[in-house]
Amino acid sequence: MERSVAIIGGGISGLVCAARLKQLNMNNVTVFDTGKHGPGGRCSSRTINVDGNLHTFDHSAQYFTVSDQRFAKIVSFLHKQGAVKIWNGKIGHLKEGKFTQDDQLTQAFIGSDGMVSIPKSLASLVQVKGPSWIAHVEWDSSLGKWKVDKYGYFNYLVIAHNGKCADNLMSNAGVPNIHRLLQVRFSDTLNMRENKMQLCSIWALLVAFPSSLKLPYVAAHVEDNQISWIANNTSKMVARATLGKSVECWTIFSTKSFASANKVPQEHIPPAKAKDITNTLLTAFGRVTRIHKQLPPPCFTRVQLWGAAVPLNVLQNKEECVFDGQNNIGICGDWLVSPCIQGAAISGLALAEKIHNNCSGSTRNSTDLLPRFKPAESETIGAFPSNPEMIFNPK
Ligand SMILES: Cc1cc2nc3c(=O)[nH]c(=O)nc-3n(C[C@H](O)[C@H](O)[C@H](O)COP(=O)(O)OP(=O)(O)OC[C@H]3O[C@@H](n4cnc5c(N)ncnc54)[C@H](O)[C@@H]3O)c2cc1C
Repeated sequence: MERSVAIIGGGISGLVCAARLKQLNMNNVTVFDTGKHGPGGRCSSRTINVDGNLHTFDHSAQYFTVSDQRFAKIVSFLHKQGAVKIWNGKIGHLKEGKFTQDDQLTQAFIGSDGMVSIPKSLASLVQVKGPSWIAHVEWDSSLGKWKVDKYGYFNYLVIAHNGKCADNLMSNAGVPNIHRLLQVRFSDTLNMRENKMQLCSIWALLVAFPSSLKLPYVAAHVEDNQISWIANNTSKMVARATLGKSVECWTIFSTKSFASANKVPQEHIPPAKAKDITNTLLTAFGRVTRIHKQLPPPCFTRVQLWGAAVPLNVLQNKEECVFDGQNNIGICGDWLVSPCIQGAAISGLALAEKIHNNCSGSTRNSTDLLPRFKPAESETIGAFPSNPEMIFNPK
């Protein structure tokens, strides 16, 4: 009989895992995702009506890079599906008002209609049940199966999310060795003595200006104590020739330390806090871009707190995923490889292979289940691994 797989989490790692399982002829796979606007997790966009016109803002992942051949194949597929394109504007670093283009960045990929185009394309290949919040899972050792909330029994369970949700979900699931890996601590600085997953928070400000700011770059990593990233979203959506003619949308990210100092419950941001964060980040935006007083009053603003934004450390595990062959459970996600889109995708791929091998009996081995963590390679949100030898030439 066909073996069934429940994947909890429809971010990039969960969707890639499901798509690869399907490619390996495992067709009874269901992805459960809680996203109200569709799957995608931390790779998503918001379409917002500003003055009668719809504008798309990338409010989490901004762009991605490719340095791994396995991921390059996925990107090539996504390109054929029309889901990704290359962002051609100037991206670099901003320090004390001075912009320097990033010469390490060979190609910056983005979703063709916002980053959400990527999960949308992957989700079209697999079965996604959403919005569905999985609140309870339990290993039934007599059946050798997982009970997943009200959705019945599955042969395999995949945890494709992290943070408090995964920590809580697995706390009474009957697999303490797996729960141990998912225990989490929130901080803006890595504590090397704590052998635990550590996640930081980030505030995002989405802002639209009635006219172009005419900045000579489309995005910048910022060296500042309040802002870490600014990006002109409008430049992603339209040809550069039409830029500067009307509303211009920007995404601004705070630093980790700013988010840590201004933490509130992300689902219930007090209106006064939202106003305060908006004003502070807008003033900082004027300061870092040196637009200062010439910054036009925005025609739209919205703030969002990413409570569990990016991992500060990753599991020290060569296998790029976690798999427990005794209890038919696996974990995938960016925190098992590198905190970025490529890392999440590779982890999803690796876990699909493990499940397929286990299922076909070729190997019953578990991965290392010890909670040994190492610092994430890059301080930059998104990590952006690159390989100058790998240049993608769309055919
Ligand atoms: C602000 C920000 C900016 C970033 N910028 C970049 C960038 O520019 N480039 C880059 O490469 N990376 C960037 N990243 C990192 C990148 O977004 C992540 O590495 C990647 O998207 C992680 O994918 P994932 O599948 O591991 O996890 P997630 O995307 O977190 O997916 C987990 C999914 O599980 C769902 N879920 C959780 N609990 C449950 C439950 N109980 N039941 C059902 N569903 C559940 C969640 O809703 C979510 O959809 C950024 C991240 C953030 C937050």
